[in-house]
Amino acid sequence: MAAALVEDNLDGLIVSHAPNVRYLTGFTGTSALFALLREREPVFLSDFRYATQAHAEVGDMARIEIVSDNLWKRLLAVLSEYRAARTLGYEAHTVTVKTAELLGANGTRSTFTPVKGLVERFRAMKDPEEVRAIHAAATLAMEAFEAALATVRVGQREIEIAAQLELELRRRGSEWHPFPTIAASGPRSALPHAATSQREVQAGDWLLLDFGAQVDGYCADVTRTVVVGRPADERQRAVYELVREAQLTARTSMRAGMTGKETDALARSVIEARGFGDAFGHSLGHGLGLEVHEEPRVSATNTDTLPVGAVVTVEPGVYLPGWGGVRVEDDVHLTEDGAVLLSDGETDLREVF
Ligand code: ZN
Ligand code: ZN
Repeated sequence: MAAALVEDNLDGLIVSHAPNVRYLTGFTGTSALFALLREREPVFLSDFRYATQAHAEVGDMARIEIVSDNLWKRLLAVLSEYRAARTLGYEAHTVTVKTAELLGANGTRSTFTPVKGLVERFRAMKDPEEVRAIHAAATLAMEAFEAALATVRVGQREIEIAAQLELELRRRGSEWHPFPTIAASGPRSALPHAATSQREVQAGDWLLLDFGAQVDGYCADVTRTVVVGRPADERQRAVYELVREAQLTARTSMRAGMTGKETDALARSVIEARGFGDAFGHSLGHGLGLEVHEEPRVSATNTDTLPVGAVVTVEPGVYLPGWGGVRVEDDVHLTEDGAVLLSDGETDLREVF
């Protein structure tokens, strides 16, 4: 981090995005400011709700202040104690216009400059402990899926199925659902980000389940699509096998050092070759970590390379309006030696009776 500050000509960085604060300090609360200063002790500010927690989690790695007023105003007061002029970065993607105005007219000798994605660059490369947490989250997610799937029947509403899955996730220790569980059946499975509804599952329907789990703050994100009530028909089988093949191709041949665009193309070319390119309208995947969507993006517009250590999803889909959709999503860790699966990767077509 210190080297990155030097490279960006910064004397310090004010970190306000909660996952970044957690990454750097271990603080798990939602209201905090962390000022990382090159030649000074770091400063950590939070409010009275987090007084005990801040001392327990941040410890002596920073000067901790519990503030009853606006955290930014107090931070400016702390910084004005410093004589020398400083250039301090702030996180452009999470600071409001109101706060940016406050920093512009700050009354200190410091100047404040917006920076983008500095901490996120580090977060993209996971250490073994982070990978262990994501693996634990993915493992419990797959176990919860198996348990929930055993109770799925024709006539159930999507929302009941989602509730059962969420119960199984929590039972196994998921700290929270990192995003709203998607249970989309029949033609609704063609909506890539369907909200779970009251629709009753019919015999022969697709049932698409996209769900997450969280362990030690780290997220897993998995999708499985199954057929309910009777064996898959020929078209269902053909579309499913296409998506499965695209996913398998991508997750076995992707490597750190490839660009997001090249990686996305591994799956997309399989789907395009079969004439379904227009039915795969989203990117192949995204980084996973303290947030469920983070760096790096595995998309056709990302020309940056995927770093060693990244954990990403691999989630191609084919969506045919009025008929239904199939998505298969697993989580992989990009090591020096290739992609290592963190979820179970068991993607054989399932038919649930
Ligand atoms: Zn997902
Ligand atoms: Zn995802």
